[in-house]
Amino acid sequence: MINPASRTKSIELSLIRKMFEVTNPDAINLGIGEPDFDVPENIRNAMKESLDENDTHYTPNKGYIELREEISKKFKKDNGIDADPDNIIVTVGASEGLFMCAQAFIEKGDEILLPNPSFLSYEACIKLADGTIVPVDCKMENEFKLKAEDVEEKITDKTKAIMLNSPSNPTGAVMEKEDVKAIADLSMDKDFLIISDEIYEKIIYDKKHYSPAKYSDNVITLNGFSKTYAMTGLRIGYLTANEEFTENLLKIHQYNIACASTTAQRGAYEALSGPQGEVEKMVSEFQRRRDLIVSRLNGMGYETVNAEGAFYVFPKIEDEDFVMKAAKAGVITVPGIAFGSNGKGHVRMSYANSYENIEKAMDILEERVVNG
Ligand code: PMP
Repeated sequence: MINPASRTKSIELSLIRKMFEVTNPDAINLGIGEPDFDVPENIRNAMKESLDENDTHYTPNKGYIELREEISKKFKKDNGIDADPDNIIVTVGASEGLFMCAQAFIEKGDEILLPNPSFLSYEACIKLADGTIVPVDCKMENEFKLKAEDVEEKITDKTKAIMLNSPSNPTGAVMEKEDVKAIADLSMDKDFLIISDEIYEKIIYDKKHYSPAKYSDNVITLNGFSKTYAMTGLRIGYLTANEEFTENLLKIHQYNIACASTTAQRGAYEALSGPQGEVEKMVSEFQRRRDLIVSRLNGMGYETVNAEGAFYVFPKIEDEDFVMKAAKAGVITVPGIAFGSNGKGHVRMSYANSYENIEKAMDILEERVVNG
């Protein structure tokens, strides 16, 4: 009998993936966490060109220098972060970045502050690194925004790191500047690491995004191309941190994957250096859908925060059978509990689906689940 390692046994396969397996293929999918848009044409062409040039060999471990220079400019312009290209690593999605942070910095005995609810992978990565999770509540009364005072309460001498994710999956909450800054200040005063997952940075409505790395040196900033440029399947992301952190992260990256895909790196270069019109169009379409889904759900009596970012809403729905009833009626959603204990009594709905499909899905819920 060959047993998996106990760390592997300590985690479960994703509940979201399981939901897709059990429900009917014709259902409208509001469970999905990826843009329904295509990769913009200029990016597709750059990747085709790279293949035609036989640019298919290993790149430097940290990624092509031209790409890292573009990422460095992006950090300066959008985030106010001075990131030397030497302190940037191009990753296989933000997912690899996350795993790398956990493997490089977390060990047994370390306490990791984790917003509750939050993205599923955080818990799994922390557990696989033997860390201890200390949940920090994101309360509906605060529109699910993580507050610095709630973080401060949970800090002990074992606190090693905090996970931040603004805009948030699963709630769409965008943190306020004063909380980002206060948590950044705490990370310096109390000497802990901030792992800041900023993958939804650009999908934000009438609100500004703030990066903690602008205010603290104890930050690893993660980002990627999956959401902003609809490049999920190309598996490409990046991170930056100070020199010492980067060197340790590189050890994990180097022995795990060597380098991110050449083709995807060429596409990523075009994404950052080319025109940004497609991103703007996509974000304004997301905002139109957000307005629709929030008003329809509130109209059905499901209290829903007017989320300021990402492409998720997190309505309060106390009926424990809602997700199953909705799936049977033809709408896939995800139970909030999948994202932590505070997700109980909520359902995550993604509006990365067409306006027409969202309208149809809301009609189905209204006719067959609420009044059914
Ligand atoms: N962080 C968050 C909050 C996410 O929602 C996702 C994707 N669902 C990721 C990271 C992973 O993104 P990538 O495709 O870049 O690995």
